[in-house]
Amino acid sequence: MRKIKSLAVHHSASPSTTTVADIKKWHEKREWPHIAYHYVILNNGKVVHTLRDAQEGFGVYGKNKDSLHICVIGDFTKSPVLQKQIDSLEKTILKLCKKYKLQIWNIYGHLELALESHPTQCPGEHLMKELNLMRVRISEKLKKEKNPIPLEIQVETLPNWRSNLLQWIMEIITKLLKR
Ligand SMILES: [Zn+2]
Repeated sequence: MRKIKSLAVHHSASPSTTTVADIKKWHEKREWPHIAYHYVILNNGKVVHTLRDAQEGFGVYGKNKDSLHICVIGDFTKSPVLQKQIDSLEKTILKLCKKYKLQIWNIYGHLELALESHPTQCPGEHLMKELNLMRVRISEKLKKEKNPIPLEIQVETLPNWRSNLLQWIMEIITKLLKR
């Protein structure tokens, strides 16, 4: 099993009515053995898993070994991203971050991951703007995931001097309340 270290976000640079079959056809013409992307997000927000995660894609030249590629349908150099697509992209990224233990610095727009020899505008400025906002939200959600320990347990595992201090404070409060 390959180790996943990055998620790359793309746009299809095509009309919003583009289908997965259309993309497959374009990639076959390039003589790639299969579609370049692992996930495709349609204009109705539906997420299609188009390539097994274990397989290498072809989304970013020279950077496919440890990456997963997510393509959002549309041309986001020209038009804004649809809300349904934003929601689905965020859910997909969050799910993959949890599954592969990734953080926000493992999430890239294609242009951020591209080699200097292969510059690109992908995924377009509108999607890059959304991706930057999304990183903040995803970072908050991932932070919450890291602290699942309930408060009671944390108090029990405190070093002795702290438990003693807590006990002492509780006693004083109880006394004050009784007065
Ligand atoms: Zn791309």
